[in-house]
Amino acid sequence: MEACGADWLHVDVMDGHFVPNLTIGPPVVEALRRVTKLPLDCHLMITDPATYAPRFIEAGASGVTFHTEAVSDPRTLCRAIRAKGVRAGIAVRPKTPIDGVLPLLDDLDMVLVMTVEPGFGGQAYMPDMAPKIVALRRAIGSRAVDIEVDGGLGPKTIRHAAGAGANVIVAGNAVFKAPDARAAIEELRRGAAEARAALV
Ligand code: ZN
Repeated sequence: MEACGADWLHVDVMDGHFVPNLTIGPPVVEALRRVTKLPLDCHLMITDPATYAPRFIEAGASGVTFHTEAVSDPRTLCRAIRAKGVRAGIAVRPKTPIDGVLPLLDDLDMVLVMTVEPGFGGQAYMPDMAPKIVALRRAIGSRAVDIEVDGGLGPKTIRHAAGAGANVIVAGNAVFKAPDARAAIEELRRGAAEARAALV
């Protein structure tokens, strides 16, 4: 499958409950797994991630990110995901503080800071999420934990998010609605790299 230079494929899973939209399930992940070797980064916007995470892992997910708002015991779910050899991530909605995630950093591979309210593509990036990213980056320290941002990322906003400390950038419309997806990804990559270099 032609991925136009992307490092990962981000798979937005919505159940019509946790968010009003309804998207794809494990069969689509399984179909993707057959046509690409790229990591499949599955973002579960669903009310019952503990039940469904194993199904996405069996389908070929490389990482499973679930929402902290959807579970009572995120540490146990992170450990269960990692025990299957898959990356574990926790996502926070714009209104959710990161305080609950900080004690879990040793059981995580990634924190996903939503930069729009989850549920639909095409929304505007929320620049006021930057303080969360900055605080997370500081708390992560030397741990190998990625900070992913998702929502409204494009050539203009990517520098802001990467400059705050995000290092995994999800892009939807910025790639899929661009006339040349490969060139769009190159431009995003350049913008993120420049903003990250300015951090050091
Ligand atoms: Zn997502």
